[in-house]
Amino acid sequence: MAIPATCEQCGESFWADDAQGGQQSQCPHCGQATQVPPWQTPSGGKPAASPFLFAMVFAFLLLLCCVLPAVWVVLAARQVLP
Ligand SMILES: [Zn+2]
Repeated sequence: MAIPATCEQCGESFWADDAQGGQQSQCPHCGQATQVPPWQTPSGGKPAASPFLFAMVFAFLLLLCCVLPAVWVVLAARQVLP
């Protein structure tokens, strides 16, 4: 990922590295030092995907812990009972 930055000296736009977020960077157009804005998370990106992934894992574990033992108990009961 790169950070979109605008040079304060010449007004040209350029891409800065993530490590340069919130720090001074050298403009590739005029060579002057300019401020790079802090790195920002794109809206609807990782923060939204993380709870969804957590819910999927939780649902899978719930299925594994509740449904599978129930199936196993039914199968075991059928084998034991006449
Ligand atoms: Zn510049």
